[in-house]
Amino acid sequence: MFDNLSDRLGNVFDRLRGRGALSEQDVRDAMREVRVALLEADVALPVVRRFIDAVTEKAIGAEVLKSVTPGQQVVKIVNDELVEMLGGEEVEGLTLEAKPPVVIMMVGLQGSGKTTTTAKLAKLLKERHGKKALMASLDVNRPAAQEQLAVLGEQVSVATLPIVAGQQPVDIARRAMESAKLQSADVLLLDTAGRLHVDEALMAEMKAVAGVSAPTEVLLVVDSLTGQDAVNVARSFTEEVPLTGVVLTRMDGDARGGAALSMRHVTGQPIKFAGTGEKLDAIEAFDPKRVAGRILG
Ligand code: GDP
Repeated sequence: MFDNLSDRLGNVFDRLRGRGALSEQDVRDAMREVRVALLEADVALPVVRRFIDAVTEKAIGAEVLKSVTPGQQVVKIVNDELVEMLGGEEVEGLTLEAKPPVVIMMVGLQGSGKTTTTAKLAKLLKERHGKKALMASLDVNRPAAQEQLAVLGEQVSVATLPIVAGQQPVDIARRAMESAKLQSADVLLLDTAGRLHVDEALMAEMKAVAGVSAPTEVLLVVDSLTGQDAVNVARSFTEEVPLTGVVLTRMDGDARGGAALSMRHVTGQPIKFAGTGEKLDAIEAFDPKRVAGRILG
């Protein structure tokens, strides 16, 4: 479906084999290919521009190593910059050191995979970190959203806050805090309401919930398949709530990973996890190197 960027760059540079340093013209030719590949991978335009500028600066005049062709050399520079912009070598995890219950607030649009990801994280915290978690759904908008979380809670054997009909999100958050303390839970996961679009009421609700629960982590859940939309969503949330990280869902789909590059740029926060399927163990720590390879193709 997509031309392989590494091969394309190889073609651009084939004629240059044997030259000492990368000239400006060589690099500019290569960057045209990089630009197309990034746009095809659904990277937002301003991010593409910034990326191209950074790589151009590094590549012009770079000595071509004896062991590689100029094409391979540029592929390496592009790859290194992708890894850097995706978060570097480090894989970022959750901050769990705060006084318990550590509150993790999940935010995002309806359908992004928020509820599923909440249950996935609760399972992961329990199984890999030995943490006792409590989950609470604050979604009073979508019918059966609270029941959905309760069902998932049973599947992963993690407690959920009992549902009280008619209660509003901020009150549910307060009750969840109380309950987490009483149960000596280490972590409280708040699955907030989503909407089909970002609107003022949603943002006011997010702020109010953050106000009463003082979350250590505020994770924005975005669907990696929604590309440019995901970028706009991220921008809106970033302006309103103090995000600490991003979870990209549906990375098992055929998205090239471009959303990841944009997300990091727009939110200024690390991508912490990737959702890789519908099953409740289909979640992985986000690995910049692997995603860079996927964008490069
Ligand atoms: P919410 O409205 O944001 O709470 O979204 P849900 O958690 O209900 O998820 C919506 C749909 O996406 C469900 O069918 C999930 O099983 C599915 N889903 C969530 N995360 C992933 C993922 O990483 N990969 C795939 N393939 N499906 C996912």
